[in-house]
Amino acid sequence: MSYKKVYLNSGKEESLKRFHPWVFSGAIHHIDGTPEEGEIVEIYDAKKQFIALGHCQIGSIAVRVLSFEHEAIDTDFWKKRIAFAYQLRKQLKLAANAENNTYRLIHGEGDGLPGLIADVYGNTVVMQAHSPGMHVARYELAEALKDVLGDAIDNIYYKSESTLPYKADLGAENGYLIGGQNVSSIALENGLQFHVDWVKGQKTGFFVDQRDNRGLLEHYSKGRSVLNMFCYTGGFSCYAMRGGAELVHSVDSSAKAIDLTNENIALNFPENSRHRAFAEDAFKYLEQMGSQYDLIVLDPPAFAKHRNVLKNALQGYRKLNAIALEKIKPGGIIFTFSCSQVVSKNDFRLAVFSAAAQSGRKVRILQQLAQPADHPINIYHPEGEYLKGLILAVE
Ligand code: SAH
Repeated sequence: MSYKKVYLNSGKEESLKRFHPWVFSGAIHHIDGTPEEGEIVEIYDAKKQFIALGHCQIGSIAVRVLSFEHEAIDTDFWKKRIAFAYQLRKQLKLAANAENNTYRLIHGEGDGLPGLIADVYGNTVVMQAHSPGMHVARYELAEALKDVLGDAIDNIYYKSESTLPYKADLGAENGYLIGGQNVSSIALENGLQFHVDWVKGQKTGFFVDQRDNRGLLEHYSKGRSVLNMFCYTGGFSCYAMRGGAELVHSVDSSAKAIDLTNENIALNFPENSRHRAFAEDAFKYLEQMGSQYDLIVLDPPAFAKHRNVLKNALQGYRKLNAIALEKIKPGGIIFTFSCSQVVSKNDFRLAVFSAAAQSGRKVRILQQLAQPADHPINIYHPEGEYLKGLILAVE
C-alpha cells in the first residue's frame, strides 16, 4: 500500500521521533501530489527516511499520526486498535458488567486513534470525529466497531456536526450508521441509571469522565447538605443521594440540563423529597446563597478553550472557588474541577490556592483528582491530559 508523501523541513522530524502524534503545517517542506482532506499520507524527513503514516487535514495541525510503522490503514488496522481499547475497558470492568455499561471506548490519541471519540451507553456507541480523516473513515470505523463489540451493541450513532473543523466543509450529518431501531437511552453507571440524550445533549450526551470522582463523592455524602453546581445530567447529585445526603441541590444555567437532572433523580430515587434543582447562573446563585451547604461540587465548563484566554480563565476559577470557600459550612468538603486542557494542574492549584487565601479559611487538600483510566493519556501527547480536580476540607 502506498500513499501520497509529505516531506518535512530539516530538523522538523524531532517531535515525531519522540512519538508526538501531530505534524504542524509549518513543519512541512512539500507534498507529492494534492491529498484530499482526511486522506492518508506518508511522512518522510528531509533525508527521505520514512517516519509515520497519518490523516492529513487543512489547518495548523496538518497530519495526525496513525502509525509509526509502514502498514496498511484498513479495516483490520481499525479492528486491531479498537480491540485493544475494548480489552482494556473489559479489564477495568467497565464493559461486560451488569452494574455498568457506560464508558469511553476510544479516547483519541490516548487509544492510538487521533481524532476519534467513542462512548458506549448500553447497546449504543456514540462515535464522534474531531478530524476530517476520522470522518472520511466513519463507515469503515463503524463496521470495525460492530465486528469487535459484536452482540454487545446494536447501534452506532455518529455525532460530528459540531466537532469537525468548519473550514473542512465536510457536510457531516448526525445519525445512525448502524441500527437505530432497538435503542435504549437508559445507561447504567455503577448501578445508577441515567437517561442519556446523545441526539440533543452536550458532547456525546453524558460526561463519562467524572465516573470515578462521582464515586468518591458518594463516600463523603452521608448526612451532608450538598450543592452540585454545574450539574448537567445530575451525575454527582445521584451519587450524593445514594450516599445518604440529607439534601441535594442541583444548579445549572440550562433549563434542559435541569430537566435531565430531575428525570435522572426520579429514575433512581422515586421518593425524591431530598432533591431540588434550579435553573440559574452559577455566580448569581453562589452570591445569593447562604451558608447552608457542607459539601459543594464545582464542575464548570472549560473556562479557557485557548491559551490566549488563560489569564481570564484562571481569574474565573479563582472567583468561583473563592465564593464557595467563603460560604461553605465549617467542616465542609469541596470537590472542585477544571476540564480546560490549557489550564495545567499547577495553574489550577494556584488559582484554588489564591481563592483559599482570599477566603482566609483553613484549607487542606485531601485528594488530587484526574480523568479516569478509560480516558488514557498517551505519554508522548501530554495535551491529552485535561481533567483535574481537588477534594478540599475546609475548617
Ligand atoms: N458535572 C456535570 C458536567 C458539567 S458540564 C456532570 O457530571 O455530568 C458543565 C455544565 O455547566 C453544563 O451543563 C452547562 O450548561 C453549565 N453551565 C455553563 N455555564 C454556566 C453558568 N454560568 N452557570 C451555571 N451553569 C453553567
